[in-house]
Amino acid sequence: MNGPGPARRPQTTIFTRMSALAQRHGAVNLGQGFPDESGPSRVIEAAAEAMRQGHNQYPPLAGIPRLREAIAAHQRHWYGLEPDPDGGVTVTAGATEAIAAAMLALVEPGDEVVAFEPFYDSYKACVEMAGGVLVPVRLEAPNYRPDLDRLRAAVTDRTRLLLVNTPHNPTGTVLTRGELEAVAALAIERDLLVVTDEVYEHLVFDGHEHLPLAGFDGMWDRTLTIGSAGKTFSVTGWKIGWASGPAALVERVQAVKQYLSFASGTPFQHGVVEALASDDAYYREFAADYRRRRDLMVAGLADIGFTVREPEGTYFVTCGIEPFGAEDGLEFCLDLPERCGVVAIPTQVFYADGAVARPEVRFTFCKPVPVLEEGLARLRAGMRG
Ligand SMILES: *Cc1c(COP(=O)(O)O)cnc(C)c1O
Repeated sequence: MNGPGPARRPQTTIFTRMSALAQRHGAVNLGQGFPDESGPSRVIEAAAEAMRQGHNQYPPLAGIPRLREAIAAHQRHWYGLEPDPDGGVTVTAGATEAIAAAMLALVEPGDEVVAFEPFYDSYKACVEMAGGVLVPVRLEAPNYRPDLDRLRAAVTDRTRLLLVNTPHNPTGTVLTRGELEAVAALAIERDLLVVTDEVYEHLVFDGHEHLPLAGFDGMWDRTLTIGSAGKTFSVTGWKIGWASGPAALVERVQAVKQYLSFASGTPFQHGVVEALASDDAYYREFAADYRRRRDLMVAGLADIGFTVREPEGTYFVTCGIEPFGAEDGLEFCLDLPERCGVVAIPTQVFYADGAVARPEVRFTFCKPVPVLEEGLARLRAGMRG
């Protein structure tokens, strides 16, 4: 993605490259964020049963009605939001398609889209495919909190929308109520659309709380909320995501989506109906389980010598590599499979200028505890040498 060539024609991503390296070296892959374990068996069974029952043809463009209702019920239950299941919810091929369709639908050539940097790597590609310009506002190490004055300064007369990801990949920052209030106030003052990426909404630790921007005063009509089953139910390969919000925005996204995937994953949509019927205990245990894995990784990486900032949410931890005398995360990560038998992702790929070296890498902890322990043991041995 960093090579030469037209900006609007994206290149192979770092994830593909690093996963290939992982295979070649038999490395423990703590790079790309997909769990090794499948989601709850009742969810898997619901999808299998849907296939056996013959739910194998195109679903409706907006998604099967039962899933749209389940998504609306989820938004109401957790956040008191009330998207209309008929018109205010559309099911997509993962959050990835929802982001792409939203950018293509809402961004005009020359428009600016402001996003906190580092950002999920598809943001810039999608904004550019829409002919827009991504304007990054940096979350600075070591705390990766938003600088609201900088955010305000980044908004110009050409700004069309704010693209906000919380809980935030790769830093693990969860925006606070106060920070979100400031973002909302700015969106209202400058009459901006807001697209939120909330795929880690249920992966929030300790006293932190996930709050959708759509629920803040004056925000509903200007906000498109994006979610996904992949992370919450450990079914990333199903690629079932959704966008919800006011019908006027959702309709525009749907109009684009009909020429991307049109619609996808009928049996998986049935599986996600079952997933969203989970009781609160499922979500609680899910977060508690990941909290234990986070604690293991944070303690282990710090002990090995990385500079670690404890993530408040997501299943990623971003670490500084300067204690090892390293300054270039990409070089470090390209070397790591051979040196330690571990794969990590250089955070520079999450920056607008992805070619600039940065002394940081990202590990995921969405792997079983023994795999995390093995990864830590290999790092401990390899980084000593
Ligand atoms: C994983 C991820 C996505 C993509 O979600 P899918 O449902 O797998 O398409 C989007 N945004 C962020 C921040 C992610 O980490």
